[in-house]
Amino acid sequence: MNETLSADPIFQNRGVGREVAVVGAGAVGLTAALWLARERASVTVYEAKTVASESSGRAAGVCYDAFAAEPNATLGQEAIEGFHSFAEEGAPFTPCPYVWLAGEGDEGKIALVRDGIRRMQELGVEATELEAADLAEQFPRLRTNDIAVAGVTEGAGYTDPEAYTAWLAEQARAEGVTIEEETPVRIETESPAVIASGDRREVDDLVVTAGAHSKQVLADAGVEIAMKPYRVQALVGGVSLGDSWEPMVYDTSADCYLRPHPEGLLAGDGTEEREADPEEYDRAANANFPANLADRVTHRVPDCNLDVDRAWAGLCTATPDRDPLVGAVRERVYVGTGFQGQGFMRSPAIGRRLADDVLGGDGIPAFDPTRFDGDESFEVREGMAVES
Ligand SMILES: Cc1cc2nc3c(=O)[nH]c(=O)nc-3n(C[C@H](O)[C@H](O)[C@H](O)COP(=O)(O)OP(=O)(O)OC[C@H]3O[C@@H](n4cnc5c(N)ncnc54)[C@H](O)[C@@H]3O)c2cc1C
Repeated sequence: MNETLSADPIFQNRGVGREVAVVGAGAVGLTAALWLARERASVTVYEAKTVASESSGRAAGVCYDAFAAEPNATLGQEAIEGFHSFAEEGAPFTPCPYVWLAGEGDEGKIALVRDGIRRMQELGVEATELEAADLAEQFPRLRTNDIAVAGVTEGAGYTDPEAYTAWLAEQARAEGVTIEEETPVRIETESPAVIASGDRREVDDLVVTAGAHSKQVLADAGVEIAMKPYRVQALVGGVSLGDSWEPMVYDTSADCYLRPHPEGLLAGDGTEEREADPEEYDRAANANFPANLADRVTHRVPDCNLDVDRAWAGLCTATPDRDPLVGAVRERVYVGTGFQGQGFMRSPAIGRRLADDVLGGDGIPAFDPTRFDGDESFEVREGMAVES
């Protein structure tokens, strides 16, 4: 790992004289663009639609450091530090404890939650194991009488993903980044170039952070990556809890998560474990999704009186080993995708390390995208699930 990235910003002017094109103005591409510009690279972000128009604008904004293996534990902590540091510069971010739990009788999940907490603690993540009585005392809004075990971390919080990404764009522009919206591009990878509206522009480095479209953007340029987009859903509803309730919760037994939201509560799951087409997918939630999820939410937060206001779908990206693809796919051509529903929360760390990689740093060796050939056959599996 490159230690310079866990420290305070170090402006070494490593980008002077480099022209970098970034494809995609989501949280990951804009974070990379921002750090590249802070290192004095000349950066243009090409965005097919508008800033945050795809996954970053449809995310739930749940952010935590509760990862039970490296390098994610380090990246999770680095990312939470990044959110706090950006918040000091004006980014929206609300600290909030994150609780994950398993219900009584769900022996497999109970063991996974316990083992995960132990491994987090060994890795230096400040995760605490709580029994139902402790949880009830700390978070009296939650139904706890059917909970066998829970983990809690204070290294967590939430943000409005669209507003946060817009803030990133503003910061990037202030650092000199050009953001070309409504500009879908094709790329060439032999000698890195972007082609927009028929105009071809050669660049020193090319960074593909096109979210669920990354696979196609690269495939059109002859590079295969092992990634599959899949559809997930979320909703927002009014509640009778007031505006200062906590915590964020991931109920592993009921397969759903929830967090406080300025309008009440935001909840999600509704994962479809099959490949989706980023050009064609249904952006509306399934008809039965709100009622089905509301039942599970009101079971866990009994007096919330959830009144669902809106629901939607968006895309996440899966890989064979459920770790992202971040790094070079060809000389001077980089990708950042495959975040398994946890791309937003890791974007401050991953975007920054991607920028470092472009400028000659170590990047994130464990996420080397060429660890796969790109033609692997694999199943889409939900991202948040606790792992063995
Ligand atoms: C309902 C839902 C809830 C989620 N909740 C969370 C959560 O709570 N926490 C979390 O960490 N993650 C969450 N995620 C996942 C998260 O949204 C993603 O991991 C993250 O936003 C990925 O960011 P990105 O920058 O890689 O991609 P994106 O935000 O998708 O950005 C890619 C951009 O590239 C552009 N693009 C595509 N093709 C081209 C082209 N050819 N030329 C130019 N531009 C192009 C797109 O228009 C898009 O704006 C959720 C996702 C969904 C759908």
